[in-house]
Amino acid sequence: MAYCRIVIIFVTYNTLFPMKIFCIGRNYAEHARELGNELPTEPLVFMKPTTALLQSPCDFYIPDFSDNVQHEVELVLRISKNGKHIAEKFAHKYYDHIGIGIDFTARDLQNRLKAKGSPWEIAKAFDGSAPIGEFIPIAKLPDPKNIDFALTRNGTTVQSGHTSQLIFSFDVLVSYISRFFTLQQGDLIYTGTPEGVGKVAIGDDLRGSINGREMLVCKVR
Ligand code: MN
Repeated sequence: MAYCRIVIIFVTYNTLFPMKIFCIGRNYAEHARELGNELPTEPLVFMKPTTALLQSPCDFYIPDFSDNVQHEVELVLRISKNGKHIAEKFAHKYYDHIGIGIDFTARDLQNRLKAKGSPWEIAKAFDGSAPIGEFIPIAKLPDPKNIDFALTRNGTTVQSGHTSQLIFSFDVLVSYISRFFTLQQGDLIYTGTPEGVGKVAIGDDLRGSINGREMLVCKVR
């Protein structure tokens, strides 16, 4: 009986909670340009710990170490089975749900770190820096290669993107990441933000949507 319970807890944990959270930087050309960055020749990968996650609907508290926290809305893939060294042509078999998330970034801190060539973690991976909305099965989308997404701030659309604008496709990202890290069921990949990133303020109401369907609500406190 006790053994049974342990197995059930393990399986539930494994399915519901990501083991790892990957994020991709500069995966939309217009966004790379708006921050004055060159276009990447291979995916730029960084990670956040699970303590960064906030489940929508959520309250995001602006941290005291930044005066310029910016929203980056991103499509998020959920890994459906374990794999490593995944060939690009098989990569689509390793994710089956898509959602929308925000990669909150302490831009002032990140710019200081970038100038020194230092790692980004404290500017990108702090507590609450990764709100995540609901997931939908990719098979339920009319066309998985044509996905629109958007973020509204206080009712005004501030970011909108389309998967056709991705520099590195979902399959390329999954294949690339799996060369370095074993992908595990439940892992998440934040696939990059389109242009229009901007500073958030206390009281902001942020809403993310996929193909016009609202899937994430985040209030800034
Ligand atoms: Mn990002």
